[in-house]
Amino acid sequence: MRNISILGSTGSIGIQTLDVVRANKDIHVCAIAAGSNIQLLEKQIREFHPSIVCVWNEEKAKELAVCVADCKVKIVSGMEGLMEAATIQEAEIVVTAVVGMIGIRPTIAAIKAGKHIALANKETLVTAGHIIMPLAKENHIKILPVDSEHSAIFQCLNGENRAEIDKILLTASGGPFRGKKKEDLANIQVEDALKHPNWAMGRKITIDSSTMVNKGLEVMEAKWLFDVSFDQIQVVVQPQSVIHSMVQFMDGAVIAQLGTPDMKLPIQYALYYPERRFLAGGRLDFAALKDITFEAPDMETFEGLSLAYEAGRKGGSVPTVFNAANEKAVSLFLDRRIRYMQITEMIAYCMQQIPFIDNPSVEEILQIERMTYEKIESRWGV
Ligand code: NDP
Ligand code: MG
Repeated sequence: MRNISILGSTGSIGIQTLDVVRANKDIHVCAIAAGSNIQLLEKQIREFHPSIVCVWNEEKAKELAVCVADCKVKIVSGMEGLMEAATIQEAEIVVTAVVGMIGIRPTIAAIKAGKHIALANKETLVTAGHIIMPLAKENHIKILPVDSEHSAIFQCLNGENRAEIDKILLTASGGPFRGKKKEDLANIQVEDALKHPNWAMGRKITIDSSTMVNKGLEVMEAKWLFDVSFDQIQVVVQPQSVIHSMVQFMDGAVIAQLGTPDMKLPIQYALYYPERRFLAGGRLDFAALKDITFEAPDMETFEGLSLAYEAGRKGGSVPTVFNAANEKAVSLFLDRRIRYMQITEMIAYCMQQIPFIDNPSVEEILQIERMTYEKIESRWGV
């Protein structure tokens, strides 16, 4: 029996993690956490019997406690509660499936408490990779990627010497607006941007995929996970999402990982690594599969990707500014308070305006996040 804790159990990754748990029957979920969806949390409590459940929203936590008064479960809330769920003694692995920088503190706490991390929450690594990776090494903690591209790379590197990597070929679907130019994107509405061609995901990452900011975040995520330079990470558009990423080695050999687009595969791989388990679902049919095509990304239209490379190369506080500006802008766009193209405009503006800090501490990262939000609020009056 493996014991896990899931931060973000009611989201797209959290729900699919529980699907994997349900199918395998040898994982115990000892803690779960979510923002406010207490209806689903109640169902999850009754099915999976966690001993700690965190609801970020305090009022909702109280409501949930009443609903599950007949269950043997401790309901906690806020950051303290999230940390408790992340560090629960029984858990060996913490699945970080919350969205955004809120994941930084619980991830660090989990590592310090000796938990391996099945990492979906890329924003945490993008902003605090310089803290998390050395901390994980020091504590002998595995950071197991859940993001499909990074899981693919991780699988391609099995048995290989990482010093022999020439480059990482990070694949991208190109999102719903592949092939469009800037002028075509001026009037994009929330509904248009929420239609991803290949993957069903949470709202924020779906918008990020449409702007290619997601790929930019993934470039930075890959840098931290695989200890390569930005020159060694090349984004390749592969619209069918069949190749989940590739690694080219010094001798020119390229190893790729392929499969149908199903997040349960990388989730299950992270939970059972290095073991592979049966996973129900579709299989690639190479006789029926007509095309696997490739394109270079259009970095001029999808400026978010070039800004991400710039942020990553500058390092220090700049990836935090990039990420925080994007989190704020995407939430404003989802609330229909700004136009689509303003998302990258806001990122670029904040990257220019916020002063640089080298090697920021967690407190400084959170301070930069607030400064970035304030910069957007004062410049755009939103
Ligand atoms: P969702 O929006 O679907 O889910 C987010 C989860 O986080 C929900 O359970 C939500 O709870 C919870 N949450 C939000 N705020 C808080 C908070 N303050 N405290 C505790 N829990 C909170 O996101 P996804 O599952 O799509 O994405 C999660 C992470 O995984 C992101 O970082 C994303 O980039 C990454 N990822 C996702 C992929 C996917 O296929 N979805 C693929 C690769 C990476 P509630 O429901 O109550 O709001
Ligand atoms: Mg991905």
